Amino acid sequence: DPDDATPSSGEGPFFTKHSPERTSFVDPGLAGTPMELSGRVLATDGRAVPRARLDFWHTDQAGEYDHAGYRCRGHQYADADGRYVLRTIVPGAGGRPKHIHVKLAGNGRALTTQLLFPEDARNGRDWPFDRRLLMKVADDGSGRKARFDFVLG
Ligand code: FE
Repeated sequence: DPDDATPSSGEGPFFTKHSPERTSFVDPGLAGTPMELSGRVLATDGRAVPRARLDFWHTDQAGEYDHAGYRCRGHQYADADGRYVLRTIVPGAGGRPKHIHVKLAGNGRALTTQLLFPEDARNGRDWPFDRRLLMKVADDGSGRKARFDFVLG
């Protein structure tokens, strides 16, 4: 159903082109609560979008973007079943709701949006809140496991 399409949300001012291709942002010296974000990229008919390109960026634990390099920035390609996995940390917030930016391209379509954390009381204080952008987040031992399925409409 086209109404199931993942809504767009603001790109914000801090996207950087030419991010490295990688499935992990966890570098030596990156502090924070480990988080594994995974899910699928689907079309509105429920079929997988193979090899979709996902470009993620978010703040570090202190809520800062890396303007000089590519800390907490990177792109990857979903597999043939539309599956992706990103190993990272829970981003810091500053005064904003915690969020993960993503640019997604596949199936001849493109989407720029933000993923949100369900427990964050600040949700909606900046960008209009849409619950379709909430990840499913669970504790996973020492970290978090987050799930989000994108629907490219
Ligand atoms: Fe942001």
